[in-house]
Amino acid sequence: MTVNGPIQPSEMGSTLVHEHVFLDWTGAERMNSRLWKNEDAFKVILPHLKKCQALGIKTFMDCTPNFIGRNPLLLKRLADSTGLQFMTNTGYYGAVNNKYLPAIAFKASARHLSRIWIREFRKGIGKTGIRPGFIKIGVNGDSTLSPMHEKLIRAAALTHLKTGLTIVAHTGPYAPARQQVNIITEMGLHPSAWVWTHAQGGNSAEHEDLARRGAWISLDGLGWVHPIDHNGDSTDLKKYVRQIVFLKQKGLLQHLLISHDAGWFTHGMPGGGKFMPFSNIFELVIPLLKKEGFSQEDFDQLLVKNPQGAFTLSVRKGRKGKPTSLTNLTR
Ligand SMILES: [Zn+2]
Repeated sequence: MTVNGPIQPSEMGSTLVHEHVFLDWTGAERMNSRLWKNEDAFKVILPHLKKCQALGIKTFMDCTPNFIGRNPLLLKRLADSTGLQFMTNTGYYGAVNNKYLPAIAFKASARHLSRIWIREFRKGIGKTGIRPGFIKIGVNGDSTLSPMHEKLIRAAALTHLKTGLTIVAHTGPYAPARQQVNIITEMGLHPSAWVWTHAQGGNSAEHEDLARRGAWISLDGLGWVHPIDHNGDSTDLKKYVRQIVFLKQKGLLQHLLISHDAGWFTHGMPGGGKFMPFSNIFELVIPLLKKEGFSQEDFDQLLVKNPQGAFTLSVRKGRKGKPTSLTNLTR
């Protein structure tokens, strides 16, 4: 489901599954979208998207959630100006200690929240008529999900069951990732309805565990890597390459998504701040993976087939899964 309506999954082509063109970090209760300088943003963002297209990208998933600057009309304008297929999202982002949650998130039940998100999918966002193509939630990286964040994953699961939208969950570490998979599994979903976003916060054994259960592993900080080894720093390019190679060696490449998490025209910063380009995958990562024996078929798997598999609208129900033991995997 793109901002210009539904397309066939086979039309997605090469896809960047986790990027941001525009953000507003003011906070849910003080944010005012009338202050957004969309014209300035458009001018800054457009050349970066054209470069993406020159690298072969056909579909661009904008992961900026509601109340952090989700800007469907700007996305539609960028889509119409470039021919890129844009996707936006529904859902609420609870990470950063709930600063980006609207008041209703605290009062309403999971079912009530899911009704709001399902309505966006069916009727469009606000009065724009633009429909979300996935669910974006955010939870803190704590070892145990707070009741508020458990409510968000439950609302997302209920929304999935009615819409077939995939759940993209800003998570980070393994413990809250595993808890979310256990919750949605108990609710009757198959783990393939869920994406472990910022899985670079976990280790390879943890990636293997949730990939074997069927979840999508999203290594999505590649816009911020530097090519020099910084001893296991999460922005270390070599660490990403090791994690990607590991999943291929385990036969789990079909569960992996890669992206930059780049862009970030930021409201309130002069000129939108420093805009991170969407090119490291092509300029830094692919050449290193080629040295590790990756073929064109592998790159098609990562950039074409897996995004298509992850984000085709379909309700994914599964038998009740057996929760895995945390102590076996965490060190
Ligand atoms: Zn992001």
